[in-house]
Amino acid sequence: MNDTVMERSAVDALEAAALDAKKREKIAHENNKLHKRLCRLVGQAIGDFNMIEDGDKVMVCLSGGKDSYALLDILLTLRERAPIHFDIVAVNLDQKQPNFPPEVLPAYLDKLGVPYHIENQDTYSIVKRLIPEGKTTCSLCSRLRRGILYRVADELGCNKIALGHHRDDILETFFLNMFFGGKLKGMPAKLVSDDGKHMVIRPLAYVKEADTERYAEVKGFPIIPCDLCGSQENLQRKQIKAMLRDWEKKHPGRVENVFSSLSTVVPSHLMDRDLFGFADLKTDGVPNPLGDIAFDEEPCSTPASNTIPLTQL
Ligand code: SF4
Repeated sequence: MNDTVMERSAVDALEAAALDAKKREKIAHENNKLHKRLCRLVGQAIGDFNMIEDGDKVMVCLSGGKDSYALLDILLTLRERAPIHFDIVAVNLDQKQPNFPPEVLPAYLDKLGVPYHIENQDTYSIVKRLIPEGKTTCSLCSRLRRGILYRVADELGCNKIALGHHRDDILETFFLNMFFGGKLKGMPAKLVSDDGKHMVIRPLAYVKEADTERYAEVKGFPIIPCDLCGSQENLQRKQIKAMLRDWEKKHPGRVENVFSSLSTVVPSHLMDRDLFGFADLKTDGVPNPLGDIAFDEEPCSTPASNTIPLTQL
């Protein structure tokens, strides 16, 4: 190799290294933005719904999936910055599904230094015994899981139960209920548990699934596959997921608007007679400048005033 060729390859190597460094810097910047965005959206949801208060003990349900890892991680970050004191206990319910790796979560949580509890309950065998082959097992399985988690929360003295459902779970549930159940009903960010004793919270309510997916990659969470029970993913939910993904691609902003509409409900313009007293509605003869203009077309393109600015992220 002559001197000129050697010089050129040295320059090429330097340029490639500089390009690599730039790429790494860009990725680090994007990852930092993602972390900040998750903290902001989770903090916003906690604040909007008053999810966590001073002195709370929060049981964070950890399944080993990307969302629950992200939830625990972000809550731990926010706790460091919070002006209030609250405790966190991570809880995993080992349902004894075939090939569930029982060592993964304890190893992760030990490293993190978070108090945790692993509850061993063979719901898998119960479900397999009671549900005929080929039938959906999820409803019995989740009922059993719910009961166990409420009991564990009691035993651990936790008054709040945090679940890792995100914005897309909420939207999918909303459309599932509408399309297949004939109900306008989503998945609340905060609710009282059905035993009436605990507050269930969903701090990832404003977070997109794509962000928890990316965050899990960035953080290298030791993901445990969610199909160990062998149950088929709900076909109807799959259809809704595909519909939403298609909208995201073809109609940017639509999904954000639908999500925003869940927090901008106008009962007088729906038809639920329990929610609005149509039967007793009276005229009062007083003009209302903010009232309905019955025969005008609704300006459907007006942006909602309290749209969560996900599009600006
Ligand atoms: S997918 Fe499996 S583990 Fe999850 S709720 Fe359904 S039956 Fe239970």
